[in-house]
Amino acid sequence: MIGIAIDGPAGAGKSYLARTVAKRLGYIYVDTGALYRTIGLSMVRRGIAPADAETVVKALDGLHVSLDYAEDGEQHVFLNGEDVSTAIRMPEISMAASAVSAIPEVRAFLLDIQRNMAKTHNVVMDGRDIGTVILPDAKVKIFLSASEHARAKRRYLELTEKGVKTTLEAVEAEMKSRDHNDSTRKVAPAIPAVDAVMLDNSELDREGTVEAALAIIAEKLA
Ligand code: C5P
Repeated sequence: MIGIAIDGPAGAGKSYLARTVAKRLGYIYVDTGALYRTIGLSMVRRGIAPADAETVVKALDGLHVSLDYAEDGEQHVFLNGEDVSTAIRMPEISMAASAVSAIPEVRAFLLDIQRNMAKTHNVVMDGRDIGTVILPDAKVKIFLSASEHARAKRRYLELTEKGVKTTLEAVEAEMKSRDHNDSTRKVAPAIPAVDAVMLDNSELDREGTVEAALAIIAEKLA
């Protein structure tokens, strides 16, 4: 099986890139952020503070998270059988996901589901630690990034398009705080793998990013 890892900070365009590359190559796109978001959602719904590691770990008991794919290849994530793919996209769930993702037991809880997907399918997997922890032997590793401002603007447009009411300043502040948490945490920090190819797309549009990534992939798989 071939694994392609795409890591990087929030708003870099990982999901569009990974989804598009997966479609072009006929691979499965695995959005691992959705898994952490699902745990975050579950804690918020149960009134558990996502940073309260002890209580979060206890609450993992009996929790079931799974992935399934629609006919068009779109990933759906399930929390105890309920499709929560839309609910996990709310901005407040982003911070909850970031908080629970710093808990080692949460990362361990989600390890098998990610590795099993890559064992049974050719995958393009996006996240923060795919190249470093989940698929250290991935054939291709790309670390996608862009300037903070470019990323905040993209995320803002994405959210307002979905009808979420927010401001550019709020999005930028939330993103900064989340990236800080993600890149400085003790377990699986969001840093490039030593063998990752760095791709900065501050000056590229979506299609330009896809072309650049496909060129990297073609070279690595050759
Ligand atoms: O990618 P997305 O923004 O949906 O991820 C939500 C949060 O989940 C991230 O801010 C990060 O804290 C966490 N995450 C992670 N490791 C991954 C994917 C996501 O820690 N592989």
